[in-house]
Amino acid sequence: MKECWCCGSSSTASSRLSPLPFLACSRCGFAFREDLEDAEVHAVYEGGEYERMRGEEYLRNLDARRRHARVRLAALAPFVRTGRLLDVGAAGGAFVSEAARSGFTAQGVEPTPAFAALARDHLGADVRTGTVEAAAFQDGSFDVVTLWHVLEHIPHPGGELARLRAALRPGGLIGIEVPNAGGVLALRQGTAWASLEPAVHVGQYTPAALRTLLERAGYVDVRVGTTTVWPYLTGLERLKPRELVHRARTSAWLRSPRVEHPTGHELLRAFARAPG
Ligand SMILES: [Zn+2]
Repeated sequence: MKECWCCGSSSTASSRLSPLPFLACSRCGFAFREDLEDAEVHAVYEGGEYERMRGEEYLRNLDARRRHARVRLAALAPFVRTGRLLDVGAAGGAFVSEAARSGFTAQGVEPTPAFAALARDHLGADVRTGTVEAAAFQDGSFDVVTLWHVLEHIPHPGGELARLRAALRPGGLIGIEVPNAGGVLALRQGTAWASLEPAVHVGQYTPAALRTLLERAGYVDVRVGTTTVWPYLTGLERLKPRELVHRARTSAWLRSPRVEHPTGHELLRAFARAPG
């Protein structure tokens, strides 16, 4: 019996995601892979296939990534618009670059060396190679820390979140986005859900799981909600039949046409503060 990474309850093999080797927590709905060793997970990002595939793709889609970064900055804006920002899992640096452009003193950390080099060389972004643990930031170094589609890649994430809480100044903000494994699409599609990515998404978060994880890592004023992918799409992308059908279906399932929903949409976002 393994403890849930988010709430600490006991877990059992997930029947919903069977035959994939996920454990599921009956209390918070979190599903996770305990069968992968940390070293195996790190090896994915620190060399070889992942870098080769994703590096070229990153530059090809740089304009879209910059646009996505601006959507995330808009989501942060009600909480924070300026100050010292750390982006964790910064990849090729599009978010760090856009955050700097919008007025933050922005830096990033990225474990995949080729991505961090790309961020520095192509975007002029302040992204250092490595992990938060290795970087050993001084306590209280940042006003805001962000993890955009990063937490789902991290085994046993409580330690990382506690390190980041210490790196924040008292009252500093953490912003997180992950795929919502508790959303209607994930629940209806099961193992066919495109965002499941079971080889690399070792943690599958529900709104309740993410809230509990943040509270147990010592954060306060935790706000959790979900959004559709709609804000990330261009006008042209929104007109694609696939997207229109998807939006109509989701609205019907949730009985709401709104882009935001407390629990049901495809993207899960959380904002919380370090105590202070
Ligand atoms: Zn749990």
